[in-house]
Amino acid sequence: MSSGNKQLISLLNDALPQTQCEQCGFKGCLPYAEAMAAGEALYNRCPPGGEDTLAKLTQILGQPVIPLDTSRGTHYPQARVAIIREDECIGCTKCIQACPVDAILGAAKLMHTVIADECSGCELCVAPCPVDCIDIIEVNPIPLTLEQREQRAQQYRHRYDNRNTRLARIEAEKEAKRQARRQRLANQQPSPTPQADKEQALKQAKTRYNLLHNQHKQARAALARAQKHQPGDYSAQEKLIAQLAVEAEEARAQVTALMEEAKANIAATGPSLGELKKAAATAAIALADGQTAYQAAVESNDTNAIRQWQLELTKLATANAQAQRNLEQAMQAHGLSLDS
Ligand code: SF4
Ligand code: SF4
Ligand code: SF4
Repeated sequence: MSSGNKQLISLLNDALPQTQCEQCGFKGCLPYAEAMAAGEALYNRCPPGGEDTLAKLTQILGQPVIPLDTSRGTHYPQARVAIIREDECIGCTKCIQACPVDAILGAAKLMHTVIADECSGCELCVAPCPVDCIDIIEVNPIPLTLEQREQRAQQYRHRYDNRNTRLARIEAEKEAKRQARRQRLANQQPSPTPQADKEQALKQAKTRYNLLHNQHKQARAALARAQKHQPGDYSAQEKLIAQLAVEAEEARAQVTALMEEAKANIAATGPSLGELKKAAATAAIALADGQTAYQAAVESNDTNAIRQWQLELTKLATANAQAQRNLEQAMQAHGLSLDS
């Protein structure tokens, strides 16, 4: 983002009332300011700001005067706040989760209450309440002065920023814990003993690589989200992600080495891929022939032949399954796909 654009976003954000009500269609005032600066949203979408805010935005953007988009909500010149009918509250905490400025106090299964002085009247807590016990009321019939509006905007913005910082930190901490737990689990995977089947060792190595690779991708994405949402010091997470990248690369090298070893082993000791293909085809044909012969015995009601072919079919099916497995394993060992 250019510094000119940053400055424009800052100017636009400063002009907004910071109730964080989302009536503009964005997740708060700052995202709306960013959209306006990028030319992706009209500047008449903020009902809480009313005509005053519209005039400021029009001037900052140097755009023509247009009417306020009242389809998005109503402009109230007076202060409004939420109140909870506390005897009806079931303590579900949904309103706390919805409040963008942390203006609700309470805990799970306990009665909740609104801190009236901090409430921006944004109404975001009303819809999620499952028992509909939140009302929005007018605090005072006298309209707020410009000074009061500006002072409130600063207060809401401060609380909104603090909340986002807290949520981003919690999310980053949770992600770091999840990664550490996955890492512990991955480290607990038993390493192949010298007697262990090479195929099993390869399978484990591939699983470990895929796990680390995905963890690295997810951690990077989570960090990018956190940084976008709330810039700050994420050096601890960056260190963890760098460590994951190193471990994923080591796991990839181990998979490659095991594959090469398996290929060399097959080339030195086992039948060629062509021979295995031929054996698999022969076994499949023998099984199909056996099934035809068995069917013929059933149709001619030849009890002895039926019994004989039943036994034979079991052997043919086992031999066929083994031949197909041998071929599949050899093909996997020849391929270098990390997903298989
Ligand atoms: S006050 Fe509400 S409508 Fe206005 S910009 Fe902020 S979030 Fe959007
Ligand atoms: S208590 Fe409700 S109305 Fe008040 S700021 Fe929080 S979500 Fe908005
Ligand atoms: S959403 Fe409604 S019921 Fe749930 S804690 Fe808030 S006020 Fe109480």
